[in-house]
Amino acid sequence: MSFNLTEILRDNIKNLVPYSSARDEFKGDASIFLDANENAFGSPLPHDYNRYPDPLQHKLKAKLESIKGVPAGNMFLGNGSDEAIDILYRACCTPGKDNVILVPPTYGMYEVSANINDVQIRKVNLTPDYQLDLDGIAEAIDMHTKMIFVCSPNNPSGNSINPLDIETLLVNFKGLVVVDEAYINYSKQKSFTHSLPEFPNLVVLQTLSKAWGLAALRLGLAFASRDIIAVFNKIKPPYNINQATQDLVLEALDNVEVVNEWIKSTVQEREILVGQLQALPQVEHITPSDANFILVKLAQPRELYNFLVNKGIIVRDRSKVTLCEGSLRITVGTKPENERLLEEIQVFYK
Ligand SMILES: *Cc1c(COP(=O)(O)O)cnc(C)c1O
Repeated sequence: MSFNLTEILRDNIKNLVPYSSARDEFKGDASIFLDANENAFGSPLPHDYNRYPDPLQHKLKAKLESIKGVPAGNMFLGNGSDEAIDILYRACCTPGKDNVILVPPTYGMYEVSANINDVQIRKVNLTPDYQLDLDGIAEAIDMHTKMIFVCSPNNPSGNSINPLDIETLLVNFKGLVVVDEAYINYSKQKSFTHSLPEFPNLVVLQTLSKAWGLAALRLGLAFASRDIIAVFNKIKPPYNINQATQDLVLEALDNVEVVNEWIKSTVQEREILVGQLQALPQVEHITPSDANFILVKLAQPRELYNFLVNKGIIVRDRSKVTLCEGSLRITVGTKPENERLLEEIQVFYK
């Protein structure tokens, strides 16, 4: 099936004339900037933030290009991945008319963002081992289906989705397949960014909020064809990534080695934690994880959750979520944190 971006976009977006900022209309060097109504005196801070930032974050993208191996022209940077998700809905889905496919249990923002944008959701549950139900998805698709969101490694189950199944979707679905790789740094699977040249309907989401340890700076990435990236850029607020974030992330990106060490330690700690938990008779099942968290099915999940809260340890109660019944989602912490957690779990079950 051939993919045609103009068939996917909303009419108002196809016809949209984007805002043209002062920084769009003059690019280059000058000594006096009197075009953007900024305060020429500076900022009441040690560093000046009085000038609007680069709307397209060229410096940052050049550095990300060298780290991610994806050309800057195939990259959109958002105020968290959540901004990219919201823009996708606004670009493609006519409220009250179009629909998207979600595959629960999965990341909650796809559903919230659909609801905000008044877009119908069609849920096709993952299989009991948290893989795609390709037949169910094929049945749920109709002429108004614009997107399918697949999270791999999946939150909250932690496993990777079979890449061949994702490719089946990419080949057979004529809408966008959005692959959310928020946890890809912890995974044994390779990123779908390498498949971008092959699939014009692929959008890959990543974030600096997890492995990179920069959640507070809010930087999400979307990778896609240049045509799709042009649509993102047309819709986004002109200065969506603030100067402090651009500066700090540029600095952080010099430290790939530290981040890679943390990833290694996190994976090691995850396996230790899994081994220790599996030794407890009250632990029924732990889904093999490719992420920095584990989904643990165990006895008395709600009571254990409350017990841990009282000890000052917060995990995520997923025990009422479809296909996660009886489970807690536990993020892998530092070694001492994981040891404290295990001690308290042992005390609870004693
Ligand atoms: C944490 C997470 C994100 C990150 O969102 P940001 O807005 O970039 O912080 C995206 N997708 C999934 C599945 C996540 O778990």
